[in-house]
Amino acid sequence: MHILSSENYLSMHFSSNDMADHPKKYRVEYNRPACIGAAACVAVQPEKWVIKDEARDNRADLIGGMEDPTRPGIWIAEFTEEELEAYTSSATMCPVQVIKIFEIATGKQLTW
Ligand code: SF4
Repeated sequence: MHILSSENYLSMHFSSNDMADHPKKYRVEYNRPACIGAAACVAVQPEKWVIKDEARDNRADLIGGMEDPTRPGIWIAEFTEEELEAYTSSATMCPVQVIKIFEIATGKQLTW
């Protein structure tokens, strides 16, 4: 399992009270092996998506994401209402529809 750390970013920007006030209601699921490296996600939400030169496979990485141990290649992250618009933009701009957004409480798929 691989983890891209965002703890430092979070601790710099949010106190524990902030996190309680902004619960993570949504989940993004990213099928990394199916990414074609079009970089639309990086363009619309650069704080969450990156294509690293050293990866050499020209696929995006989900910053702060974690690879699902039960589904190799599927990267997941939970996020708040405030981030929904940006994640939805990434999902809808992806030309191969490999970014999907779900509401955690209901399991409802919000994109694609
Ligand atoms: S927009 Fe889709 S295909 Fe393009 S880099 Fe992002 S995840 Fe990959």
